[in-house]
Amino acid sequence: MKNVNLLLSALIAISILSCKTSTKEPEKLKYALCIHGGAGTILKKNITPEREKEYYDKLDEALTVGDSVLKNGGSALDAVELTIHILENSPLFNAGKGAVFTHSGKNELDASIMWGKDLNAGAVAGVGDIKNPISAARKVMENSEHVMLSGEGASLFASQQGLSIVDSSYFFTEKRWNYLQQILNKEREMTRTDRHGTVGCVALDKNGNLAAGTSTGGMTNKRFGRIGDSPVIGAGTYANNNTCAVSCTGHGEFFIRLGVAKDISALMEYQNLSLNEATDIVMDKLNNIDGSGGFVALDKFGNPAMKMNTSGMYRGYVNSKGVKEKYIYK
Ligand code: ASP
Repeated sequence: MKNVNLLLSALIAISILSCKTSTKEPEKLKYALCIHGGAGTILKKNITPEREKEYYDKLDEALTVGDSVLKNGGSALDAVELTIHILENSPLFNAGKGAVFTHSGKNELDASIMWGKDLNAGAVAGVGDIKNPISAARKVMENSEHVMLSGEGASLFASQQGLSIVDSSYFFTEKRWNYLQQILNKEREMTRTDRHGTVGCVALDKNGNLAAGTSTGGMTNKRFGRIGDSPVIGAGTYANNNTCAVSCTGHGEFFIRLGVAKDISALMEYQNLSLNEATDIVMDKLNNIDGSGGFVALDKFGNPAMKMNTSGMYRGYVNSKGVKEKYIYK
């Protein structure tokens, strides 16, 4: 009898131990980084092989920059800012140089950044002369007592901070201009998903800090000083070391209404869900209200989620194990 009891106790102990190991925390990567270059109607049949290669090359360049910052012990904030510079400086994406035009033929750019370590954040909205709006967002976060600055005030602040201010003609690209003209002349119907574009980056650094950043030209033909989700902390951007970092792209009004980025983090924080579960729930909510777009996110272990309900999203992922992936289509 004594032996049977001993055997039973041993079996119970083993099963408790094995339970423990099966619920143990996932392996934490030393670092990881995810990017996006906008979601929308992106179909292989509409892109030439040359143009497709240009996109893949630029995504690769951005991932390489982010990877080297993190590999060398740089912060997730530096990685996000410098990676986004590559995308902002390219005419391929709707951010910085490649920003779309408003109804009145101007470029009005928005950006935001958030530091998951202390929930500090900064943003600029409706700016027309700051070369790299993501850097202005970071300056707002680090060197002002505010979270969001807009228009001329944001430009004045950025110039006082020593950032590069450009003539508005810097943002002129023929492709974006022609697109606006086609819409104004009603030669092209503006569908829900083909006026999108934005760039974003989320990163986990070697110190376990998460950061997220988003930069955009907004939506073609926007009017009346419209601001989308990209500079809105909690809508287009969010980072919290305890949960995840998120950067969104898509029809901003819907992302603001749902508070997409913060909702993903809140589901993880309050309901103990995984990043995958939380992003699935929020994607369902977006679908329910017909909000088109997507997001990239990283959890605190460096696991990525890159999801969209459009036909494509320029996106990529790199991590400390040497994994590097780039995708365009769904
Ligand atoms: N979310 C951006 C906005 O609404 C646009 C986009 O990401 O495509 O301004």
